[in-house]
Amino acid sequence: MMIGLNEYFDCPTCGKTVSRIGLISGNTVGERLYSDGQLILPMFPEEPAITRCLRCSTLFWITEEIKSDNQEQRRADDIKFLTIYEYLTALKNGTCKLAGQVLFIRKRIWWAFNDRIRKRKTRWFSRKEIDKNTRLFRSAKEKEIWTENVHQLLAMFASDNLEQRLWMANINSMVQTFASDNANRETGAEDPPGWFPFWNSNSLDPRIWMVEIYRNLGEFQKCREILATLSGKNLNWIKALFEKEIEKKNRFVFQLDEQQLHPPGIVI
Ligand SMILES: [Zn+2]
Repeated sequence: MMIGLNEYFDCPTCGKTVSRIGLISGNTVGERLYSDGQLILPMFPEEPAITRCLRCSTLFWITEEIKSDNQEQRRADDIKFLTIYEYLTALKNGTCKLAGQVLFIRKRIWWAFNDRIRKRKTRWFSRKEIDKNTRLFRSAKEKEIWTENVHQLLAMFASDNLEQRLWMANINSMVQTFASDNANRETGAEDPPGWFPFWNSNSLDPRIWMVEIYRNLGEFQKCREILATLSGKNLNWIKALFEKEIEKKNRFVFQLDEQQLHPPGIVI
């Protein structure tokens, strides 16, 4: 991982500056991919794309337009990720002007809830204990927020609309960035471009996300029905993973392990 100079951005309302770490390059060491599509790259950590001003509370997107004129600054607030409630505010107060921004926020809310499962050290518990100890929601209100959000996501994935295309374009560009980093910079020629079969194949069919959300909702029959409509050689292994969890009636996000990430026999 190569870290560059900090980047500085000014709050569009009050001018208070935030700083963000400028990453020049990274690699995929320690990568973790989850069933909700979140890819965690410890050696290429994500920086917030939207944040909240600590002085005036304005929520704003990090864009070139608000890049600070003074890039030599040393005193600035570190940029922070939004909380679930701040993401919700961003959906309601006009911070999202583009369809892709709405999708981005809804995806982050979904992932933020799932982070509670991801962060648990559950490997020492039995399945029964995991279920008992895993709390996705801390209140009835949170359950309401989560349910509304995943239904909105389902509607987006189900329709052939702008949001869906933006989602796909975003994922595709992310894959290409990482694939190119991986192939060209850090790991040499051992990993071919397109090292990430889950993302870089026809498995990008958004129905896979519908399967995941229905699984989260505990609607396992619906999961099976949609899974049955998915086809493609490269999808078989991911379908098998989902089927295994559906069989166990596991509703929670799960990690695809290294072998599953790079299944043998997959040639791109
Ligand atoms: Zn401000």
